[in-house]
Amino acid sequence: MAPLHHFDTFAPPEPDRVALDRQYAALMKQADDEPLDALFTWDALRRQTDTWLAVTGLRFRQDTRDAAARDARDRANRLSTWLDDRNATVIRRLLDEPEVQAEVGDRTLAAWRMDLEAFDPAASERLDEEKDTAARYFELMGSAKVEFEGSNQSLSALAVHRGDPDRARREAASRAKWSFYAGHREQLDGIYDELVQLRAGIAKTLGHSDFIETAYRRRRRVDWGRDDVSRFRARIREHVVPLAATLRAQQQDALGLDALRVWDEEVPDSRGAPTPKGDLIEAGREAFGALHPELGAFFDVMVQRGLLDLPVRDGKAPGGFCTTFPEPRLPFIFANCNGSKDDVKVLVHEVGHAFQKWCSRPLPWIDQVRCSAEAAEVHSMGLEFLSWPALDAFFGDEVDRFRRQHLIRALTFLPYGVAVDHFQHRVFENPSASPAERHAIWQEMEATYLPWRSYGDLPHASEGGFWQGQRHIYVYPFYYVDYALAQTCALQLWHRSLDDHAGAMTEYVALCGRGATEPFQAMVRSAGLRSPFDEGVLAEVVQSAAGWLGV
Ligand SMILES: [Zn+2]
Repeated sequence: MAPLHHFDTFAPPEPDRVALDRQYAALMKQADDEPLDALFTWDALRRQTDTWLAVTGLRFRQDTRDAAARDARDRANRLSTWLDDRNATVIRRLLDEPEVQAEVGDRTLAAWRMDLEAFDPAASERLDEEKDTAARYFELMGSAKVEFEGSNQSLSALAVHRGDPDRARREAASRAKWSFYAGHREQLDGIYDELVQLRAGIAKTLGHSDFIETAYRRRRRVDWGRDDVSRFRARIREHVVPLAATLRAQQQDALGLDALRVWDEEVPDSRGAPTPKGDLIEAGREAFGALHPELGAFFDVMVQRGLLDLPVRDGKAPGGFCTTFPEPRLPFIFANCNGSKDDVKVLVHEVGHAFQKWCSRPLPWIDQVRCSAEAAEVHSMGLEFLSWPALDAFFGDEVDRFRRQHLIRALTFLPYGVAVDHFQHRVFENPSASPAERHAIWQEMEATYLPWRSYGDLPHASEGGFWQGQRHIYVYPFYYVDYALAQTCALQLWHRSLDDHAGAMTEYVALCGRGATEPFQAMVRSAGLRSPFDEGVLAEVVQSAAGWLGV
């Protein structure tokens, strides 16, 4: 096991293809005599390779200008496609071995079957191209410089102004941001069109009717499908869109505006968005320690071993995420904290992901720790709500304003979440649509799910281009609905915690410990929650939130 005393000195060796080739050949031989031993060998091998892949991807995103880090990232992308091929061969060999089946459990077996259906060596070249093309989007966004108030700022730094109490400043920051998009329209349309064509081609090679079939398998959606999602979207339109529209109308009144524009949406009232006070890490120590002793101890480990990279920096790729190093069994949190309220949301959210990895690290198999995203987002979005009693460590006397806004955001997010998802369904149902037609589809989504949305004469966004700021659409296709499903579960946890916070917290820690041992809906039910696909659940959840808000 590679030791990780501190992330700064953590340098797992780059896997050597020739050596790997030998190891995989030996593993296949071992599978003939001792399938269970082969499973152990394979798991250990994957922990090594996946740790190097994770570190390499992360180091590049920490500084997208570092040429050596970019080269390593490119090698990692190649290696990962090559490994998908080898791993598919191993899965095919082990899948029907009764000893292996009994050991890993039904959920892992179902996930492996999906892996096999989502990969074909004949698609390798296109899969590599897909990674390279998605990386171009990351690089474009990471390198973006926007002139604002006399200085050049990154898009991540500029985002702090979304909560500014000064409306003119919010609007100006929004204009600066969307001018960048307008200036790169052709590039953004071009990258996306290439991705759509590549993905449609991959689906064809795999024998799927469209890329949607491919994406659901890639995302290991073992116990739900597109019909479930279609019904979920209909319920959002029925139960959530009208409520969200009411909340936006109330917000417009609270701000005393004639029209609520997109640059006002993050601001609850004339005081602006609540902002965190003091040092994030210190406040985190206090808050996580107060919530649960195990969570507090875990956060201390993260701090001591340098497993947090929080501040916004030049050259850093945008966004926030949690990655894992499976060999030392430790997670890492990457963010772009810029002094806004989102810093706390991102920190708590990513700590939720990281804590799940931590709690389930005693599970023997890598696939039992690694949740599919709809399940993983329950751990992160769930903790966002469970952290409510401890958030005064960050917000002081603004904590009530933050909580209220958090809940409003959770509700208004649901229609946006499915709009992004529905958009992608439409795009891949008709992959030959032109870029202009795709912008029109997005505008149709906005009219359906975000009827309050108003861009004024903002460049690009007012012409159907808003979706191009949503990196998941480029880089993680079909991810987005996972957030809406998980939010429906997180809101149930929130509701329970209002009566019994300690009980909800205990249930949450146990849920994190079970990792990915169950399919999504069984996992949710094991924590006493209802599946977001069950009849009536969404309506009930939304009603209890509306009741708390007094709407
Ligand atoms: Zn997340």
